[in-house]
Amino acid sequence: MANFASNRYDVVVCGAGPAGLMAACTLGRLTGGARRILLLDKKEPWKEPIFCAEAVSNDRLNALWPVDPSFVRGTLSGIYFTSPKRYRAEFYSKDCGLILDRRLFHHNLADGCSAAGVECRYDALIKKLEKTAEGWNVSVSVAGGEVETLSAAAVVDASGPSCKLTRGIECLQGIESGDADLEPAIFAVAEGIEHSKEHIELFFGSEFESGYGWIFPRDGKEVNIGFVLGKDVKHKVPLRQKLLDFIARDYPEAKVKAVYGGAIACTGTEIRPFAKCGLFKAGDAASCVNPISRSGIVESLLCGKVVAESVKEWLDDSGANREAIEAKTLDRWMAVLGKKHLQVARAKAGFNKISDAQFDRAAKKLSKLPREKQTLFRIFFNVLWAAPSLIWKMRSFLR
Ligand SMILES: Cc1cc2nc3c(=O)[nH]c(=O)nc-3n(C[C@H](O)[C@H](O)[C@H](O)COP(=O)(O)OP(=O)(O)OC[C@H]3O[C@@H](n4cnc5c(N)ncnc54)[C@H](O)[C@@H]3O)c2cc1C
Repeated sequence: MANFASNRYDVVVCGAGPAGLMAACTLGRLTGGARRILLLDKKEPWKEPIFCAEAVSNDRLNALWPVDPSFVRGTLSGIYFTSPKRYRAEFYSKDCGLILDRRLFHHNLADGCSAAGVECRYDALIKKLEKTAEGWNVSVSVAGGEVETLSAAAVVDASGPSCKLTRGIECLQGIESGDADLEPAIFAVAEGIEHSKEHIELFFGSEFESGYGWIFPRDGKEVNIGFVLGKDVKHKVPLRQKLLDFIARDYPEAKVKAVYGGAIACTGTEIRPFAKCGLFKAGDAASCVNPISRSGIVESLLCGKVVAESVKEWLDDSGANREAIEAKTLDRWMAVLGKKHLQVARAKAGFNKISDAQFDRAAKKLSKLPREKQTLFRIFFNVLWAAPSLIWKMRSFLR
């Protein structure tokens, strides 16, 4: 088979976003070249566009993948929380996070995969997954060519938020995606919006119902401006128009260079199992995004790592304990982040009920305080204080 080194693999990882790259690299390292691992994506991981505002926590990223200045666009020292009437509270901290250049970050991860002995193919559209008696058949079209079928003992589905690969597969009932908590998100890359290179700005209120708007810096000249809405929100105008109206109204000088839409796969109030029948889900395919902040980069890396550790154990097992290992994958995720995400998901309903007037009152009050007193705790406390019943609803979030 000319396109691949073999037609039989121990593991095929489907999708080379943060989850798939991390899962493949970790598996390569854990197995030390003793297993055939194939990483597939339909496009090069460093190919634009990448649907993301690219903000991450420095410490959390560094704990999983060493931060290298080559893939960092800039460092953040503050977050503006902006209310509907545009009162602005500022949370200031020397180390608020990083804005990545995800193209270069993915390149770095992909280099890690190759160095760990993973076979990588970034022109391979996965058409279908099928369960067989021995494992899985993966049907792939390389560079638009004829469909080829590879076999794998185990598969990692890291194909992102709207992943369709596992839909309708009988043995995956209960874990297949499709009913994930997908929220619509849209953003523009724009110039001509005056914005601090070291701040992100978040807009709250009914205009961005059950979600928030944002401005994230890019290179000092360009910004990423967009919003995410709750999954059940009925928007009267198409999202693209809503975004362009927001920009035209608030930033009439802005020049929109491109608009991109995407979906965010947040954890709901229930988390489905991550693995069954030798198929493991990772990253957005497993809905592992933080339900309120909607951050998913570090979450996908962590999920990819956790899943890879399970897959390694699964491969090493003779067969007797494989079901238990699959079930344990969810426990592993719950221990590292899943439990926190569930708490946040439960608090989200309360957070979404905060009214425009409450946001305005809190932000106005906070904006009068000196910057060093505008701590995150004060910001949350002031918003919640405007609606005492929410403090009770959000108690688990605040712990
Ligand atoms: C508008 C927007 C802004 C965001 N901003 C942030 C942010 O600032 N910070 C943050 O932490 N998170 C952010 N996120 C979330 C973050 O981007 C995702 O959580 C993260 O990319 C998920 O990684 P993943 O590897 O699971 O999936 P993805 O990054 O979606 O990767 C999936 C890969 O699978 C490939 N693929 C899919 N189907 C197939 C197929 N059939 N054949 C071959 N390949 C396939 C795709 O090409 C893709 O490369 C944002 C999301 C959106 C939509």
